[in-house]
Amino acid sequence: MGLRYDHVNNIFIYDEKMSGLMPNLMWHLTSECNLHCSFCFSKSGSQRKRIRIEDFKYYIKIFKNLGVQKVDISGGEPLLFDNLDLLCSLLSESKIFATITTSAFADDSQLEWLINNEKRFSRIILSLDAPYEDMHDSIRGQKGCFKKLLSLAKQLVLVSDRVRINTVCTDAISDKDTLNDFFSIITSMSLREWCLIQPLISNGMKDVFDTVVSIIDQMDITKVKIITRPNNIYSEYWVLEEDGMMFQRNQENNKYNIFSENQLQDLYKALRTDKGDENDGTEH
Ligand code: SF4
Repeated sequence: MGLRYDHVNNIFIYDEKMSGLMPNLMWHLTSECNLHCSFCFSKSGSQRKRIRIEDFKYYIKIFKNLGVQKVDISGGEPLLFDNLDLLCSLLSESKIFATITTSAFADDSQLEWLINNEKRFSRIILSLDAPYEDMHDSIRGQKGCFKKLLSLAKQLVLVSDRVRINTVCTDAISDKDTLNDFFSIITSMSLREWCLIQPLISNGMKDVFDTVVSIIDQMDITKVKIITRPNNIYSEYWVLEEDGMMFQRNQENNKYNIFSENQLQDLYKALRTDKGDENDGTEH
């Protein structure tokens, strides 16, 4: 039995007719990013490492062989990737769904492209980590992030009901007043989903995920769907980096180069061995 992607609800459900080895994949198109988040687990930076246009069709072929139904496009900052339009067309032609996660720190033309192409994504995920400008900009390491993100969110909700806010749970937001203010921002923009993420704890960061979730649980929330992402869920995600290396998040020392036939065969073998471990009804 395999998993089938329900793109409306953005969940995977068991389906005995499905047999794909890797229904879902997080794809880092580029390592380029203008921000400096302390909790960043991608190899982001100003260095322009990105997938090559001449490899697009090869990637799609591998995805079809693996049974990928949905890719979560991320980075770095994916809107900085020049050929996103072409890539989205190829994914769509191949009947592979996509979500995109952005911090909105991109040029106006790139943000405009996203607004005009929102229908290409089953979810547009905006990274907002605090309800206050100074706090969010400080967490993301760049002034102006908050204003850009809120401006994009306001424009997107006018044309799409598939906008989600992702929030990395840090000490800065772990009190009731701040979370109440955060919730007010989400409801004032009529956003339908709010996802709380437990960061990989490093550099002396305090783990406040359970505290944040328990405060949110006690709040009177009706019109916004709350999604929680503890480490143990996303640590099992499969990731494809811009250099063609594929790995499961919790096994970063065990990478497969999809441009190597031998390593691809090893990947298929490992996936066939693991098959059947997926959860049903899981939001991604
Ligand atoms: S926006 Fe994303 S890729 Fe860029 S530094 Fe922050 S977490 Fe890393």
